[in-house]
Amino acid sequence: MKEYKEGSIVVMKKQHPCGENRWEVIRTGIDIKLRCTKCDRIVMINRVDFEKRLKKVVE
Ligand SMILES: [Zn+2]
Repeated sequence: MKEYKEGSIVVMKKQHPCGENRWEVIRTGIDIKLRCTKCDRIVMINRVDFEKRLKKVVE
């Protein structure tokens, strides 16, 4: 299992429409809240889908 926590920067398999694929983990739980590191858009994704789409944890 990849380790991530609030504040982690993660790379997702699918990039955001703005072209960025690095996200900051804002909140963890049943749903994961992510902020795009380029356009600051915030998205919520359920944890199972998040872990499926997670490519790697950068920091
Ligand atoms: Zn974006």
